[in-house]
Amino acid sequence: FSSVELTEHYLQRIDRLDERFNSFITVTAEQALAQAKAADTLLANGNAQPLTGVPIANKDIFCTEGVRTSCGSKMLDNFKPPYNATVIEQFNQQGLVSLGKTNMDEFAMGSSNENSYYGACKNPWDTRTIPGGSSGGSAAAVAALLTPAATGTDTGGSIRQPAAMCGITGLKPTYGRVSRFGMIAYASSLDQGGPMARTAEDTAILLNAMAGVDYKDSTSLDVPTEDYTANLNQPLTGLRIGLPKEYFDTAGLNPEVADTVQQAIKVYESLGATVKEISLGSTELAIPAYYVIAPAEASTNLSRFDGVRYGHRCDNPVDLEDLYTRSRAEGFGAEVQRRILIGSYVLSAGFYDAYYRKAQQIRRLIKDDFTAAFNEVDVIMSPTAPNPAFKIGEKSSDPVTMYAEDIFTIGVNMAGLPGMSIPCGTVNDLPVGLQLIGNYLDESKLLNCAHMFQ
Ligand code: GLN
Repeated sequence: FSSVELTEHYLQRIDRLDERFNSFITVTAEQALAQAKAADTLLANGNAQPLTGVPIANKDIFCTEGVRTSCGSKMLDNFKPPYNATVIEQFNQQGLVSLGKTNMDEFAMGSSNENSYYGACKNPWDTRTIPGGSSGGSAAAVAALLTPAATGTDTGGSIRQPAAMCGITGLKPTYGRVSRFGMIAYASSLDQGGPMARTAEDTAILLNAMAGVDYKDSTSLDVPTEDYTANLNQPLTGLRIGLPKEYFDTAGLNPEVADTVQQAIKVYESLGATVKEISLGSTELAIPAYYVIAPAEASTNLSRFDGVRYGHRCDNPVDLEDLYTRSRAEGFGAEVQRRILIGSYVLSAGFYDAYYRKAQQIRRLIKDDFTAAFNEVDVIMSPTAPNPAFKIGEKSSDPVTMYAEDIFTIGVNMAGLPGMSIPCGTVNDLPVGLQLIGNYLDESKLLNCAHMFQ
């Protein structure tokens, strides 16, 4: 079949089904069909690359030239970027077909996708439950077969946690492996884009299309990329798996989730891996430290939304102060405002040493924990999240309970490591994710481990 036929198939499914899931903010049907047509020409002429003509959905945090890029916020509801994110440019050069932009928590702040200006996204496994966040729209769209694959971003778990909740595969690459240029910044030292798909193999193929150095992103890594599909069938004999005892001892960990993950680890043992308990001693400090550092960076990154240059502007401001204040009060939702307040507070002269500096010190301890662990083991495994998908509204009134959901994912971002979530079973008919954490630039190893399990 042709790319046009494939694209029409997915556009029709989106049209018919997405009312139930709300996984897309914007569907770019016309543009998709034009891209598909162009891809079919390339395919006919023998000029195709591996993903030419393949549809993709992009999280609405990646700037797309001429196509609204809202970041899930009223603030950017009217924003049509004049340029493409590097990831989008790479896709265009490789002939992928963009179906549209997916739903997300506002400015990627959240773990449930309930913080979107465009309404909550629903989990296709049970539409009363959340799909996870912040890349919930991407995860739901892949799970509901509205797209073969999608992009996400992960600052504290936003690729892995929704992948876990929706029963799909997601990879957060090593910090700097994928360009952040044109990816709207949340917490720049933690943000990383990555692939979300049904299988490890698809994830590897998509990572091939995204990875690479980019001189427009000064933190992007100038190390050669690999063919991430090249090592997908390596035996796991002798693979040393570390199980962090602090993760499995976490009070909020659902016992059935823990069991499901232990079963998956048995499968690895049957494939020849050895298992060893390890210690990540700073785990209990990870959430408080993350929720200082991420809001601190967010408060500075979000200062650019002032109602002057672009984004939402209030009606009839009386003076400049009023313009800033009302534009921001109207444009940002409650969670974003909370983060800006926290961030401004911890960075203020009187509290910097007590909070921000301390959090940075903890960040170093977390990184050192991982470095020590990787002297003993090849991969670390854990649940991706302590619970399966919860009901919409269940945790939204209590931010601290919501933040607790991130316990297993944020350490990876604080250290800049690659992490993955793969489906490993169900609890109460909802999917459970197994998290695989690797050493720096060990994406191939993680993908192989995931592939051998699947
Ligand atoms: N839940 C975390 C937060 O709200 C992580 C979000 C993310 O990775 N973008 O900050």
